[in-house]
Amino acid sequence: QSSDRVFNFAAGPAILPEVVLRKAESELVTWRGSGMSVMEMSHRGKEFRSIIEKAESDLRSLLSISSDYVVLFLQGGATTQFAAIPLNLCESGDDEVDYLVTGSWSDKAVKEAQKFCTPNVIWSGKSEKYTKTPDFDSLEQNSNAKYLHICANETIHGVEFKNYPVPKNKAEILVADMSSNFCSKPVDVSKFGIIYAGAQKNVGPSGVTIVIIRKDLIGKAQGITPVMLDYKIHADNGSLYNTPPCYGIYMCGLVFEDLLNQGGLVEVEKKNIRKAQILYETIDKSGGFYRSPVEKSVRSLMNVPFTLEKSELEEEFIKEASKEKMVQLKGHRSVGGMRASIYNAMPLAGVEKLVAFMKDFQARHG
Ligand code: PLP
Repeated sequence: QSSDRVFNFAAGPAILPEVVLRKAESELVTWRGSGMSVMEMSHRGKEFRSIIEKAESDLRSLLSISSDYVVLFLQGGATTQFAAIPLNLCESGDDEVDYLVTGSWSDKAVKEAQKFCTPNVIWSGKSEKYTKTPDFDSLEQNSNAKYLHICANETIHGVEFKNYPVPKNKAEILVADMSSNFCSKPVDVSKFGIIYAGAQKNVGPSGVTIVIIRKDLIGKAQGITPVMLDYKIHADNGSLYNTPPCYGIYMCGLVFEDLLNQGGLVEVEKKNIRKAQILYETIDKSGGFYRSPVEKSVRSLMNVPFTLEKSELEEEFIKEASKEKMVQLKGHRSVGGMRASIYNAMPLAGVEKLVAFMKDFQARHG
């Protein structure tokens, strides 16, 4: 990457591919001979329609999304989906649903769902400080639950599902918050009723929320559902019921194109594994100087939280890293320590620089 840019390890909004930013820059003022910026276009004009259609079609290629699913580009962040899901999938507040709580984000999802349905937390990793996922065989799912909800990657705690529980509820619906590992690896979409993700980690700027929903789940929203949260309204209108986040959708489209150019998600996953490997290896081989709290089998490829044995050095670590143009390494305020988010757009060179710094820091302070 260019020397005027830092390696940004933020959890989101996060680093974007420089090639995408340069491309956007080159067509910022006038988009492909239209005489307009994408920001100035009518969302109903032919230019923007071509942008949103291409974004959707490239996303469908990346994740091999079949015609049984609708892709929606919405607003309100993944947080809005915490409410939209029970409002769309439950008939009333009495309907039961199952949640696995593997970290702060799934915990937030349940708390919001409580307002619109009756969630059962059938497993929680809280007592073990959110360092694990459950053993699927011993899960007791409720047969009458309308869906089973998981957070595929817990951004704060760094816990990632490597495979998925089979929903044993009557409707056999699995719902996943994939905000922080969306498009980081291939996913079999057909296993899910709904996949949702805020764009601002792996696929674009904040302001766009992507929902991939199986068609037969649309059109059953509770009567009280606001139009903006009703999947049917958005599906019937091709995500153009009201003014969508046009520029954000355009940026997501550029990212999807770039991911396809890289060879698709199989290739992207290989790069992500390599980056995570060298970082976890550095932590594990530090003789306890650095420590990852997460059980090895479920360590996230995207968000790597770690602590320093001498916690009084954390501030110094962050300060020195920042001087070397590696920024946003402070852990979430709720867990402390450090966190390196290494999304798709983080180049291998960024992680190599970080591990070299970590080794040098240890040599000086260990
Ligand atoms: N879910 C996960 C896994 C997240 O990481 C985040 C944000 O960081 C959210 C949900 C909330 O997303 P938003 O801020 O887009 O509402």
